[in-house]
Amino acid sequence: MSAAARVAAIQLIARKSPVAIASPAIDVPELFGANVFGLDQMRARLPEAAYKALRSCMEHGQELEPALADQVANAMKEWAVERGATHFTHWFQPMTGSTAEKHDSFASLEGGKVLMEFSGKALIKGEPDASSFPSGGLRATFEARGYTAWDPTSPAFIRETTNGATLCIPTAFCSWTGEALDEKTPLLRSAEALNREAVRLLRLLGDHQVNYVYPTLGCEQEYFLIDRDLYLLRPDLVATGRTLFGARPPKGQELEDHYFGSIAPRVLAYMQEVEHELWKLGVPVKTRHNEVAPSQYELAPIFERSTVAVDHNMLCMEVLKQVALRHGFQCLLHEKPYAGINGSGKHNNWSMSTDTGDNLLDPGRSPEANMRFMVMLAAVMRGVDTHADLLRTTIAHAGNDHRLGANEAPPAILSIYLGEQLADVVQALIAGTGRGSDRRGETMRLGVGVLPPLPRDATDRNRTSPFAFTGNKFEFRAVGSSQATAKPNAVLNTIIADSLAHLANEIERLQAQKGLEAAVNEVVADTMKKHQRILFNGNGYSAEWHAEAGKRGLPNFRNAVDAIGNFASKKNVELFERFGVLSAKEAESRMNIMFEAYCKAIAIEGQSALSVARTIILPAAQKSQHEVAVSVMAAKAAGAETKAQEKRLRDMALRIETLVTTIDELASVFEHAESHAGSPQEHAKVYRDKVATAMVRLRECADGLETMVNDADWPLPKYREVLFLQ
Ligand code: ADP
Ligand code: MG
Repeated sequence: MSAAARVAAIQLIARKSPVAIASPAIDVPELFGANVFGLDQMRARLPEAAYKALRSCMEHGQELEPALADQVANAMKEWAVERGATHFTHWFQPMTGSTAEKHDSFASLEGGKVLMEFSGKALIKGEPDASSFPSGGLRATFEARGYTAWDPTSPAFIRETTNGATLCIPTAFCSWTGEALDEKTPLLRSAEALNREAVRLLRLLGDHQVNYVYPTLGCEQEYFLIDRDLYLLRPDLVATGRTLFGARPPKGQELEDHYFGSIAPRVLAYMQEVEHELWKLGVPVKTRHNEVAPSQYELAPIFERSTVAVDHNMLCMEVLKQVALRHGFQCLLHEKPYAGINGSGKHNNWSMSTDTGDNLLDPGRSPEANMRFMVMLAAVMRGVDTHADLLRTTIAHAGNDHRLGANEAPPAILSIYLGEQLADVVQALIAGTGRGSDRRGETMRLGVGVLPPLPRDATDRNRTSPFAFTGNKFEFRAVGSSQATAKPNAVLNTIIADSLAHLANEIERLQAQKGLEAAVNEVVADTMKKHQRILFNGNGYSAEWHAEAGKRGLPNFRNAVDAIGNFASKKNVELFERFGVLSAKEAESRMNIMFEAYCKAIAIEGQSALSVARTIILPAAQKSQHEVAVSVMAAKAAGAETKAQEKRLRDMALRIETLVTTIDELASVFEHAESHAGSPQEHAKVYRDKVATAMVRLRECADGLETMVNDADWPLPKYREVLFLQ
């Protein structure tokens, strides 16, 4: 780390040009899913009966018979080997927030010769050593065994790397006692619960066509790119994913010239290769554009069944990071890589689809479809209002604390945006039960009329809402860019399943005396009335909203530590248990893991801040101070006027003195936090209240020095460089 290295990195950037991919003549339909063992491959490679049996297992989430598993495994292996795979791995999502894999080759020894083999047993079940994955106290290390089980609803795929290829089999990860040790299992369970309750309610509404309902998901993924040579000179970025120091650049994002701007050539070449790779993996990426902050971008796929879309988002994040290296970039997925510059989120577009091809959140053009839509809307309002605390926990982590509630991101208070017209309809419905008429003097009743068409234009969007209705889906915008989306979606599915069950119970209860239509009307109107406090169409960033939300009694958990404690509250455990999504033990262990992850994140940041401040910033500042002192003394000896210069020297010395004091302060609170012996929650509080705050003070001081020290001596790439040089 030296100022010379910084200059050299900048000089290198000037000479970099877009990196070409091997075959730019891309046939997208042919490329799409080329590395996926999908339905086409299954049909082509399996006997008819086996193919049908497998499809049925996939659709109904059933286990494969051993004989069928052997057939599928063999077909999969042959396909994979033809495509250059030598190894396979079960690919799963432990509670680390990322994916895990342990590769085995297909090779087996027989009579001194190597054969490429893959059994049904190896396909359906794996036994990775689970002892080093977080379990939040679920397993004692002496019984640390877990197993991975193929999730046939998510197709196997091949990852190509520089020197080979690996067959990846998406799996769930459980302990031998059947407890979920991953993020995927509760997601699958929640989708099942949603299916059960949605179908039950649809039947009640007179729909006998639908056989199953599944949640859908489209994740808009934001990210930053930084030139890798500059990145490597920032130990804070390397260790923590965000810059712990850095003075404001002369130009930030105030010009608003980056959003939807023309994409820089090196960046576009990168995006094209990312898309290329993702198409091969069957990820339907569709949109690319510049985001609001300098060097910030977004990628969005076409939505899919959420259990698959969650896996695909994990692949997206992996591919974004890996391809970046080939283009001399580092991809930053952290929620807030740069202070004072917009952070990154992941808009979680969520809806429900039927096997008959209907989107349940589409207002529709017939009275029946409209009635169904209003029932679903009531369910979402009730779900988000009743379980806002729980939904808030799913986006609670150290990185997202920099975003939620800050000026550019959705507030930490959950509310629903419906747009003016739909909000009017809801108000009319609510008023309808009370007075028999809406504001226009007509009766607003479900099942008789058609809703006015709801426009989907940009004016009807409110970017400040954490949970916005956007035409035919809800957009949960508070999810962090680096997050795995399994947890927010598992909770979303569960709280909606709960509301669907509640509505079905109520409708059933009233139907006998009033008939279906009147019962539905009453239940929907009552539910909307009861939960209308969750609706808010105004500016979610404003101070007035914070005050108003307080009056309405909406929860406001300002930071991750306050939020996480609700995950395993009595109400939420009861909910998880009722829908078979998590047991009490599983919920509590997850809560502990969230607290632990918070502590670890802040601990790593604290340690990194200390080391950068002590060994990089302080020496650079002292060197500069020395030079200035020598120069002032020389000038003074020559009889020159040096008053202003002396003052400047004293300012600098004072800042350096303060830097040393704040370093010592951070070191001391850090030690205290490390040795703190309390509950996971208390531990996290110490990190939040002592370590994170001491880091802020240290940064303030260091950033001040950055503006004083000779630029030629400053070793860390500056914001103006990391944000603008590509
Ligand atoms: P933006 O919000 O940036 O204007 P869109 O609203 O067009 O963009 O789409 C954002 C994402 O929402 C895309 O990934 C899209 O596939 C997804 N999406 C669209 N319809 C649904 C749906 N029914 N369920 C889930 N996601 C959906
Ligand atoms: Mg969007």
